[in-house]
Amino acid sequence: MKKIVFMLTSLLLLAACNGNKADSQSVADDGIDSTFEYKVDKFADIEILRYPVPGFNSLSLGQKELIYYLSQAALEGRDILWDQHNRYNLTIRRVCEGVYENYMGNKSTDDWQKFETYLKQIWMANGIHHHYSEDKIMPQFTQEYFVSLVKSVDPGRMPFRDGMAADETLNEIVPVMFDPAVMPKRMNQTPGADIVQTSAVNFYEGVTQKEVEDYYNSMKDSNDNTPVSYGLNSKVIKENGVVTEKVWKLGGMYDKAIERIIGWLEKASAVAENDHQKSVINSLIDYYKTGSLETFDDYSVKWVTDTTSRVDFINGFIETYTDPMGLKGSWESLVNFKSIEASERTRVISENAQWFEDNSPIDDRFKKEEVKGVSAKVVTVAILGGDTYPSTPIGINLPNADWIRRDHGSKSVTIDNITFAYDKAAEGNGFKEEFMWSENEIELTKKYGTLTDNLHTDLHECLGHGSGKLLPGVSTDVLQAYASPLEETRADLFALYYLADPKLVELGLLTDSEAYKAEYYSYIMNGAMTQLTRVQPGKNIEQAHMRNRATISNWVIEKGQADNVVVYEKKDGKTYIVINDYDKLRELFGELLAEVQRIKSEGDFEAGKNLVESYGVKVDQNLHAEVLSRYEALNIAPYKGFVNPVYKLVTDDKGKVTDVTISYDENYIDQQLRYSKQYSVLPLKN
Ligand code: ZN
Repeated sequence: MKKIVFMLTSLLLLAACNGNKADSQSVADDGIDSTFEYKVDKFADIEILRYPVPGFNSLSLGQKELIYYLSQAALEGRDILWDQHNRYNLTIRRVCEGVYENYMGNKSTDDWQKFETYLKQIWMANGIHHHYSEDKIMPQFTQEYFVSLVKSVDPGRMPFRDGMAADETLNEIVPVMFDPAVMPKRMNQTPGADIVQTSAVNFYEGVTQKEVEDYYNSMKDSNDNTPVSYGLNSKVIKENGVVTEKVWKLGGMYDKAIERIIGWLEKASAVAENDHQKSVINSLIDYYKTGSLETFDDYSVKWVTDTTSRVDFINGFIETYTDPMGLKGSWESLVNFKSIEASERTRVISENAQWFEDNSPIDDRFKKEEVKGVSAKVVTVAILGGDTYPSTPIGINLPNADWIRRDHGSKSVTIDNITFAYDKAAEGNGFKEEFMWSENEIELTKKYGTLTDNLHTDLHECLGHGSGKLLPGVSTDVLQAYASPLEETRADLFALYYLADPKLVELGLLTDSEAYKAEYYSYIMNGAMTQLTRVQPGKNIEQAHMRNRATISNWVIEKGQADNVVVYEKKDGKTYIVINDYDKLRELFGELLAEVQRIKSEGDFEAGKNLVESYGVKVDQNLHAEVLSRYEALNIAPYKGFVNPVYKLVTDDKGKVTDVTISYDENYIDQQLRYSKQYSVLPLKN
């Protein structure tokens, strides 16, 4: 599970926080000084940033080499994700790139600008649907203009499949790109619709939702205490009228990319830091070779119990947010190394995990008697790949399999250098001044915002996801499309509830018992109001994390109405959130946490659906319009993406690796085009 945070409330003071002190210290040590350029590009609703990798140069040669090979493996899976998102994505991207690089006509026109923006947008989304709203990105140039561009380029320079002519390729992709009715949503969650047939993702073809449900239900054994993640690594199709799977493995679907990933993993295995880490990598290689989900579980158990290696990584079919059925893993990778000093914060939290579980405001029947191995650390990211690139989470908690979490615990990471880059890029953007009620909230968030934001992430990831248990015989699958938003709701509530606990001051994690108010205010303001900047007028809230934040915020506003706990106030015609009673607000968070835990533990689909649909989906049109216009005036892009640094192996004349260098000078367009050349071996259609 990922924590995706949008740094709309980005807060700039670093002084109070151990983690960030260490971070800014090492940033300086690595020569990443005040001239470091965090801002790279800006287009449509996107801003592209650059993140520094403090501490990389101080790693051992072996660790750097390991990061290098893992980073190559991270980049090789890019096209898998593109194809997973939609089966026309690779064709559309390669045709657009062919035009972009070879068109000899006039590039100073408005139309060309719009074409370039479209290409930048689909790079950001890893496909033609918006990475966050799931809506198809509509080109702002005409179909005629696009056809004229494609036809003007020498066909020999274009990626037309199997000798297909321009016309045939265009016939295939033009409706997909330009007709608003064709594949309008990457993932459709509309209740009542066949969410399999109406979603544009390439996880299913020629099958109905009912057929997919029957197919997987027939595999499940309710007595199995350690079930595999059914359907995680395959596409469901119909062959000769029979529903079956195409597995993503060596020799299966995505063979060519997986072969390259394995190649890099083998090199990584050879320079692993220790035997445990080596066996983690080798199990992953076995999994890619066989597609066996038992092997994936074996790998996951080894991965979660590797808590001593400095370098760590994720690589594979992991998160299921993009599948309307919540089964299929999107390909992703992320390579990181532990930030030693900053990890002190999460160490303290982890060591007290049992105390937090015991004192949680949930029903005792749903508490874990023994919280196992909550391993948490703060890391510095070295490369982002697949579903973590260009848009990236700031916290990760894995593995997702409930039984592995129950029996072996989970590993939780907070990504400090990404948060740091967000904060640097947001300095002085005027956001707080526009949306916060008074100087009090502005001051409070300036003083404690970064610290409480980081602590929120730590608590969400280290403890929130790992807390609580299912009643015997209950599976989270029963919550279907509501499982993700409810799980994020649960983890967020856990974090919010405990941020205000005196225990945090006692443990030395907070110095001021008022500090939590910074996060409470920012959270509600975001969940009830400012996150609406990422929803188009007239649309519902779709994304799991946004649904979760809206659910929490709107619920506490409604439940606290009688006592005036959190209210909307008007000033000069503008709407603001005002929190009148922070103590009562904490009680409400606890109350909702107890209910969401009950829903998960008992598998109460109806209650879960009701909660999310009542509070987390619909948008107040007037408030939405107001927020959009105030936000527009600030000229801030609501979504951020990142470019990666570039790593190079340095070898001596015998070919022996002597160093790995890091540089930060690649821009967004060059990086995307380079990735499309260097890491692109899949056929146009898979
Ligand atoms: Zn989460």
